[in-house]
Amino acid sequence: MLKITKFGGSSVASSTQFKKVKDIVMADTARKFVVVSAPGKRDASDTKITDLLYLLDAHRQYHVPADNVFNLIKERFMEIKKSLDLKYPIEKDLDQFYANLAHMNQDEIVSRGEYFCAKLMAEYLGYDFVDAKDIIRFRLDKTIDWEATTKKLQAKVAQHPRFVFPGFYGSAANGQIQVFSRGGGDITGAILAKCLDADIYENWTDVSGFLMADPRIVKNPRQITHITYSELRELSYMGASVLHEEAIFPVKEKNIPIHILNTNRPQDKGTIIQERTTTKMPYAITGIAGKKDFLSIYIYKKHMSNEVGYIRRALSILENYNVSVEHIPSGIDSFSIVIAKKEVEDCLYEMLARMKAELKPDKMDVLEDLALISTVGKNMSDKPGTSGKLFAALGDARINIRMIAQGSDEINITVGVKCEDFKRTIQVIYDAFVTKEDINE
Ligand code: ASP
Repeated sequence: MLKITKFGGSSVASSTQFKKVKDIVMADTARKFVVVSAPGKRDASDTKITDLLYLLDAHRQYHVPADNVFNLIKERFMEIKKSLDLKYPIEKDLDQFYANLAHMNQDEIVSRGEYFCAKLMAEYLGYDFVDAKDIIRFRLDKTIDWEATTKKLQAKVAQHPRFVFPGFYGSAANGQIQVFSRGGGDITGAILAKCLDADIYENWTDVSGFLMADPRIVKNPRQITHITYSELRELSYMGASVLHEEAIFPVKEKNIPIHILNTNRPQDKGTIIQERTTTKMPYAITGIAGKKDFLSIYIYKKHMSNEVGYIRRALSILENYNVSVEHIPSGIDSFSIVIAKKEVEDCLYEMLARMKAELKPDKMDVLEDLALISTVGKNMSDKPGTSGKLFAALGDARINIRMIAQGSDEINITVGVKCEDFKRTIQVIYDAFVTKEDINE
């Protein structure tokens, strides 16, 4: 059994968290390869090391002295070193890093959070340290060079049977350090799991997996114990964020399960993300997520269905303004284009004028302040009546549905409602599919 065990920023935020990590790693001999993020927040008012490093870089760019920021970073690492009585001379390496700042680029600077954290963690666990810079290789187009990365990793594993690996970065073709997007430590873990054919990718964080709805909206929502990659993709896209979206792809290809676990409550079951699962799910839906601040452009044109290329022309105007589209629900002579408000902040009225001039619609309306809510579940496609139940519940609650879209793989139904109905819609859907089921049981 081989596990890739990744700990996020809050799991390595202090010496106290380091101790929890050690207990977890030592509890299972399959946890041979450990990936760490940079120390994150110790509490809500704290600052992540990576944010401090970005700040340090901003000072470098504007040639402003950054001693204060550097000292904050140093203190954080020194607390871990001193409290755990580690030998690694991190103060020397940190000072050297600071002295060298002017000669480094942004990616290298911000990658040091995970680098120093991995060095300390390796010593603390009695594992080797393997640098991501020597293993993870990016191509010129910023995608992963899988062949080179797999080869290098497999060679390293032969020399280092147990190691700690810094997340978030690798190196470009020219040897310079390159980072992933924020939260990218999750991607590193997924890469290791794929290249080493792990049995499971454990992702330890500060929540016990995914909940069926946002706990700020629904009181004590149920835990999702199993979820497929595609369901998760839908939920994360709509705002349920625990794992970096890009972390799914490497493991999905090999059907390696991702297990989300809580470093502060290791006894909790967490959520298993997998392509297929035989576990019987208790509810018809898996989860509900949503986002506010969309708008919809409604276009009606008589006999549109006979006019070749009409929708394409509308979309090409959006493309000209570099606007990406969320949904295009359509009727016979009409369609709507749903977009995120922030996409058209500066260009909406100019773009609408162009649409009017070029498309000559018989009617065109803009519906502002739209919220989208997705009800996701792989069981929905073979369960007749799911959408009926959803619409009936919203109808009973007198929530006006202004748009409906269903993904072609039938694992989600998305409704558009007024932003003011956002929370209530989520609650009503949750009650219809979960609370009422619980009561009937
Ligand atoms: N430290 C990086 C960030 O804060 C990457 C990570 O935590 O995964 O974005």
